[in-house]
Amino acid sequence: MMRIMKVARILAMLPGLLLASPPAGALDRAASAHPAAPLVQEAIRAGRSNPDDAQRLADDALARLATQPDADLEIRARLALCDYYSERDLERARDMLARATAQLPLARRGGLRAGVHSCEGEIHEAAGDTMRALSTFELAVSAAEAAGDEEMLANALYLRGWLRGVQGDFALGLLDLRRSVTLYEKGDFPEHSRTAVNGIATIYNRMGDYAQAQQYFEQAAKAQLAAGMQREAMVTLYNLGRTREHLGQWDDAQATYLQAMGLARAIGYARGEAYVHRGLAGLHNARGEWPQALERVADAERLAAGTPDARLQAQLALVRGVALQGLKRPAESVSVLGGALTAFARAEALSELAATHAALAAAQAELGDWRSAYENQRRLRELTDRLHARQLDQRVLTLKVEFDTAAREKENALLLREKAATEAALEQQRRAGQLQILAVTLAALLAAVLGLLAWRHRRTSRRMQTLAMTDELTGLPNRRAVLARLGELLATGNDCAVLILDIDHFKTINDQHGHLVGDEVLRKVASVVSGALHGRMVGGRLGGEEFLLLLPDSDLDEAVTLGEQVREAVARIDTSRWFSGRPLSVSAGVAIAHPGAGGVADALRRADAALYEAKAAGRNRVHFGKLVLAASS
Ligand code: GH3
Ligand code: MG
Ligand code: MG
Repeated sequence: MMRIMKVARILAMLPGLLLASPPAGALDRAASAHPAAPLVQEAIRAGRSNPDDAQRLADDALARLATQPDADLEIRARLALCDYYSERDLERARDMLARATAQLPLARRGGLRAGVHSCEGEIHEAAGDTMRALSTFELAVSAAEAAGDEEMLANALYLRGWLRGVQGDFALGLLDLRRSVTLYEKGDFPEHSRTAVNGIATIYNRMGDYAQAQQYFEQAAKAQLAAGMQREAMVTLYNLGRTREHLGQWDDAQATYLQAMGLARAIGYARGEAYVHRGLAGLHNARGEWPQALERVADAERLAAGTPDARLQAQLALVRGVALQGLKRPAESVSVLGGALTAFARAEALSELAATHAALAAAQAELGDWRSAYENQRRLRELTDRLHARQLDQRVLTLKVEFDTAAREKENALLLREKAATEAALEQQRRAGQLQILAVTLAALLAAVLGLLAWRHRRTSRRMQTLAMTDELTGLPNRRAVLARLGELLATGNDCAVLILDIDHFKTINDQHGHLVGDEVLRKVASVVSGALHGRMVGGRLGGEEFLLLLPDSDLDEAVTLGEQVREAVARIDTSRWFSGRPLSVSAGVAIAHPGAGGVADALRRADAALYEAKAAGRNRVHFGKLVLAASS
């Protein structure tokens, strides 16, 4: 049951996990086309390697943005400057925060709100207000998560993780920093990712796992130096020096501090140099070289004069207090250490607090203030116990968090793989379906094309057949067609009346009025012939000015009657549009065709003979055999 619920919870997270967010640090299209865009990008990168470059680049970008405004770019430039000034000039940092905040309503990138929270948190942190810094970083993390902005999330996690580490929340701090490393690597921010790795090392350091911390710092310093990240390498080397101090490796620590000093000076990083002086002062104390320690502290204070760094000030006070104590100036020591105590207590920096109590106790004992000395000793023991207990707790918690995270990641990876497999299967199914549809469509198309081709072929061949059986001039069945039809009719075993019709003196029309008029006369007579047909009768052109009519359901009388009707109709044709005077006339011969071999030829011969008689008898008449049925003129 528990497992099912857990799986359900992870499943519920999946859409968020799978949602592809834009690559961190990518500017949107509108912003990346802006002339200030490359300056802003460079400023952000330089923030981790050379802060003064970052400041100059961001200022240049703002100058360009003044003439061609773009809210997103302006906010990013101001955030870079906020980061820069939060370590140097809190008033200017607050000014940047206010100006960035004012631009937020115009911003396209929702995640920039997280960046603004981060900037505010950095200002609180620099002012020593750790609690407010932490709650502001919380806001930054939530805002970045809500906006799905991985770059802003990485930044906020880095800042929160670092501060959690400072506060002794090592396990949660490590978790934040590891998440930020992953996000920075994903978003291709190698410089930022190395800085976050450095933060992880710092936490190991605070957990008292100095060997582990030393290893991380050495790696980070090497990578940062190789990448030309001087500022970051400087910070890493300083931390490495601190770790070596903890391990009691004084000479190594000193060499490391001196290397860090060289870098800080090369990039004019006064705050960094101040820290190194503090480290060297600590080494002098460890060796009992009290005056040198005080000199270093003075150097550091001079360099850090304009720096709003409460923790550095407290650390310097601690070192100075120890040195003064060494110089047998316990009264001054007590007063200096009192200031440090307040600052460390406010920052909840337990290990520094413990060291301060120890130094105070020693100085008070020197002064004979046994009561206060005892009180500080007691606090020291208490703190040391708490610190050890916390370190132990946090190591256990770290292991647990690591285990949980690894287990969750494994489970997520498994679910993602399963989901990918399901999606692949679905995709395959979809593709198969598409192929099926395609195949069916193609088959249908092919059938349609074949059908069309067959239909066209049939139509063409029918048309060819019709053309082959039709007389071109008159549109009547031609000789072949009409004779074939007669053959078919006789093949049924029945008689068929036939009538041959010939236009009289047609040659004269041709000769006197031309072939074109002759053609028109032929067409007109043909239309009169087909107009006279009814029932199963068929009329065709035998050739020249002769027509053959088939009357399957008529006897001789009826055939002669039809012949007469045609003859009269032809006589009634109005010829005035071609010529004047002479009307048209036709002669016809009628016969009955009988089934049997030679039936067609025999019938034609007899009808032709009758026609010949009609012509001989004076034309314009219908004959069958010797009998004249009608005559005119
Ligand atoms: P008869 O009264 O004895 O039938 O005399 P006819 O002039 O009609 O007969 P003949 O056989 O001497 O002449 C037929 C003419 O028909 C000859 C030929 O030039 C003409 N003719 C044949 N076919 C066509 C055609 O398609 N168009 C035209 N304009 N004339 C044609
Ligand atoms: Mg003729
Ligand atoms: Mg004729």
